[in-house]
Amino acid sequence: MKFSSRILNIKPSPTLEVTALANAMKAKGIDVIGFGSGEPDFDTPQSIKDAAVRAIESGKTKYTPAGGIAELKKAIVHKFKRDNALEYATSEVIVNNGGKHSFYNLMQVLLDPGEEVLIPAPYWVSYPDMVMLAGGTPIIIETSRDSGYKITPQQLQAAITKQTRAIVINSPSNPTGATYSRDELSALAEVLVQHDILLISDDIYESILYDGNAFVNIANLSEELKKRSVVLNGVSKAYSMTGWRIGYMAGDESLIKKIDILQSQSTSNPTSISQWASVEALMGDQRVIAEMVNAFDRRRRIIVNGLNEIPGFDCIMPPGAFYAFPDIDGVTRLPGWKSIVERYPGPYASSTLTSYLLEEARVAVVPGIAFGIDRNIRLSFATSDDNIIEGVSRMKEVVGRLI
Ligand code: GLU
Repeated sequence: MKFSSRILNIKPSPTLEVTALANAMKAKGIDVIGFGSGEPDFDTPQSIKDAAVRAIESGKTKYTPAGGIAELKKAIVHKFKRDNALEYATSEVIVNNGGKHSFYNLMQVLLDPGEEVLIPAPYWVSYPDMVMLAGGTPIIIETSRDSGYKITPQQLQAAITKQTRAIVINSPSNPTGATYSRDELSALAEVLVQHDILLISDDIYESILYDGNAFVNIANLSEELKKRSVVLNGVSKAYSMTGWRIGYMAGDESLIKKIDILQSQSTSNPTSISQWASVEALMGDQRVIAEMVNAFDRRRRIIVNGLNEIPGFDCIMPPGAFYAFPDIDGVTRLPGWKSIVERYPGPYASSTLTSYLLEEARVAVVPGIAFGIDRNIRLSFATSDDNIIEGVSRMKEVVGRLI
């Protein structure tokens, strides 16, 4: 069968692939510890589940407006005001089928062939592919451990061309946890205001911040920057609602209208029941978030300290999100590394190490190359303390064999 060049140009989501592989091994009775996809292991809070049950029982099980129910749009407007000091009208927000879908839709309404989107690397695995699916060209701006995995205004200036349509700012970042301060965003904004570029602020990890850091996004800096921004968020990470598939965004009314049209011709409305549950998530007791963040914080320390005891590993303490992203360059210099490459050949060290860890330690991680950097691997610590302790100890044992 002939397939479109659009689909042939993209790869399966590596985060979901690793998770599927680990689950398939588990189904065969193999005891795998999964640090693959980033998904809080907590149950969805009871009050949110109760709201969903109420929605089912009261017959809220039919089509809704394609862009979401009025009650949820109002709740989103309320959330932006309460948590982010951002004022939007309900006509400036829309509900999508998960945060991923928000970004996908945005690319579809924004890009013509050849137009460019700036993506700082390490990036979340699906940004470049979603740009390409829309016919656009992802322009990757590389960062390193030395810059705290953050781009500089100089790098930004150098990457902008006449074809640039948008930049993605994902802070806290998946996979590095890097978080831009207000001053750092201001410095980037000085460059950005000189160009007609849409600022995409993907705030999905907004609530998962440590060490008392307050969240700030680029739209907060000035009214002008807010006008140039589209803010993406969702309930998956903050309320442990990954399976419910509710994302949302806020931005210029004309842009939101176009996304509404696209959604009306593609998915129609996000699930009615999930929408009602999300009203409760956004309007109900917000203490559930702090409880989860406390647990993530404890796990963050356990995993980072544990990883730093593995030969060749060097891991920073991520200031946000729930991923450890150790630099594994030192592993490739261990005496036994060559024999590992012979067993798991390929151009990418991070993939070789990932295969070795899966086969020998029965630990599933995501190779850094999936995020645009081959020096690292990603481990989601949104899993139990016991899993973290056991998984890291298995890794230490098998990597220790390379000394
Ligand atoms: N965003 C999460 C991750 O990076 C969920 C999986 C995905 O959709 O990529 O693991």
